[in-house]
Amino acid sequence: MKNRFRIKSLKTRIIIKILAILIVLFILIDLIFAFGFRQESLYEAKTRANTVAKTVRDSLTSLMVMGVINERALFIDRLQKTVKSVDISKIRIIRSGSVNKQFGPGFKNEIPATDNEKYVLSTGKVYENVSETPGSVSYRVIIPYKAQSTGAVDCLACHHVPSGTVLGAISLRMNLTGVRTATLRIVSWTSVIFLTFLIILVLLFFRFLNPYINLFRKIEISLEKIKEGDIDNSILNENNLPADEAGDVAKTLNQTAKDLKKILSDIESKVSSLIGYSVMKTENYLTDTIKIIGELVRIYNFKKVIEKDRTRNEILKRIEFIIKEYMAFDNYTIYEVKNNNKIGIFALGAKKNLLGENDMWCIKGIIEDADLCRAKRTGMDVDSADFHCICPSFAFCEDTHNYYCIPIYMRGQVGAVLNLVFDDDVADFVHMMVPYIKGYLSEASPVIESRVLNELLKEQSIIDTLTSLHNRRFLEEAADGIVAGINRRGSVLGVLMADIDLFKQVNDRYGHDNGDKVLSNVAKEIKKNIRESDIAVRFGGEEFLVLLMDIKEGEGIIIAEKIRKAVESLEVELSGGIVIKKTISIGVCEFPPDSSKFWQAVKYSDVALYNAKETGRNKSVRFKKEMWTDKEY
Ligand code: GH3
Ligand code: MG
Ligand code: MG
Repeated sequence: MKNRFRIKSLKTRIIIKILAILIVLFILIDLIFAFGFRQESLYEAKTRANTVAKTVRDSLTSLMVMGVINERALFIDRLQKTVKSVDISKIRIIRSGSVNKQFGPGFKNEIPATDNEKYVLSTGKVYENVSETPGSVSYRVIIPYKAQSTGAVDCLACHHVPSGTVLGAISLRMNLTGVRTATLRIVSWTSVIFLTFLIILVLLFFRFLNPYINLFRKIEISLEKIKEGDIDNSILNENNLPADEAGDVAKTLNQTAKDLKKILSDIESKVSSLIGYSVMKTENYLTDTIKIIGELVRIYNFKKVIEKDRTRNEILKRIEFIIKEYMAFDNYTIYEVKNNNKIGIFALGAKKNLLGENDMWCIKGIIEDADLCRAKRTGMDVDSADFHCICPSFAFCEDTHNYYCIPIYMRGQVGAVLNLVFDDDVADFVHMMVPYIKGYLSEASPVIESRVLNELLKEQSIIDTLTSLHNRRFLEEAADGIVAGINRRGSVLGVLMADIDLFKQVNDRYGHDNGDKVLSNVAKEIKKNIRESDIAVRFGGEEFLVLLMDIKEGEGIIIAEKIRKAVESLEVELSGGIVIKKTISIGVCEFPPDSSKFWQAVKYSDVALYNAKETGRNKSVRFKKEMWTDKEY
């Protein structure tokens, strides 16, 4: 509140303060001056009055001694005229009672004594009064004459009264208007001179102060610019700075601004190289720095989060979240490129009715041939701003939709593609966001790569490399889940144990490599004859375990026969062009009808297989209780 009425300009404040001090000083001097004059003129008037009083007294005494006191009227009349020249407007002599008593009353027409005169006659004290009106100043004094016998005049020689008795008084009225007019004139002149000096002083003062006030203002603006982050425009021109401490302050400010700019630029370029892209720059170094540090923190947080994600899919989901929720894209696709050069849609965003008949943003062909996707094929960004139909595989490329596709690298290859679709009105915004999106993608890329690698390793650890079937380790890990599913659905699991008949002979006759060939061909044939949801496991050297999911009871042996017959008619071409055929024997057990324990069912299927081998090979045998001679499993 206190500051609300503060005058902001330093210059105005200085002027007001100096003027106030000088005007007070000026008034004070003038008052002292006028008061001094008044006192002096009063003192002078008093002296004059005393002199006149003395002269009158002495003159009257002389008249008395000479015996012509009766002629005093003439004397007083003359006196009246003479004293006019010394500004005494009126003079009057009053006789006391003692004089009247001794010498009889005075002149006939004598005006009786006024109260003030009576007062002087009775007390013997001087009466004084100054009366001032706007038009005039007058000084009235009544001086008593007292009987005295000392000095040149012996009053008691004629007056028969005790010494000290008041014999009379003289009343004088003096006109001091002229003195006052003269005083005022002098005061006016001194005022004019004083004010002239005052103006000259103020002008000189500002001539001296102006450069400093201007510099001060420039420094203020410069600091304001620094505060706004506009450091370039905060630098002061050093050509006409005062060559003193004030100039040094300005130079130091300039140096500080330059240093600050360098530091902020350094931060900006270092963080840019750290996050891999530059943020949109404005003229404001401070907000740019805050923005870029904020970006660094955002990317850092994102990285911290995705490093804790377990799978590639979790990370891709998080990218989708950023695209959709943070950046408010409604229309987008995240494509994943598969090993067989096919494309899968990982995520799709589309506003209602925009896609129409087509249920994806790109043509369906890219699903079968990933190279139809320009971003995948070239490994570079595809921007419809360059050429509207730059990618003919964008299903709406003739339409008004704009698109921007960014390849996401995994293990040195394009592993995914982010496709953004947008309208003209947000095109600038999208182009502004692309570096930020790429920031996220470039952080996500190595983490996705490592997750893909892990997934691959994990896959390899449960897949048999020769036959591409699951291995035994997978079965051990997956068994509980498979059993739980079958139990939950109340269905039947067919457990088939298949073994190639007289396989040893192949190795012995055609060599180990040809043996491998037969193995992988038989495995393929088995896989071909079961459903996608069924599981084929390479259980041992040339032994395969097949799990038939959700079959009808008794169906196991039928499928086993189907497999057996298919293998029987399979021709395998060995090196050297030799074609051979092999047969397999299969033991069949159904879980839970034959056994309520999974691993027991596996064992029982092996028992049935043994029976098939025993009874002539190239056949399928369903487990029967009597085949199991041991008491306990
Ligand atoms: P049958 O099962 O009909 O009783 O006769 P078999 O000749 O198949 O007998 P057996 O099961 O004892 O022999 C299996 C042979 O399979 C032994 C081994 O040399 C061979 N074998 C196991 N694993 C591989 C493999 O990975 N590659 C090749 N080439 N041979 C393998
Ligand atoms: Mg065998
Ligand atoms: Mg065997």
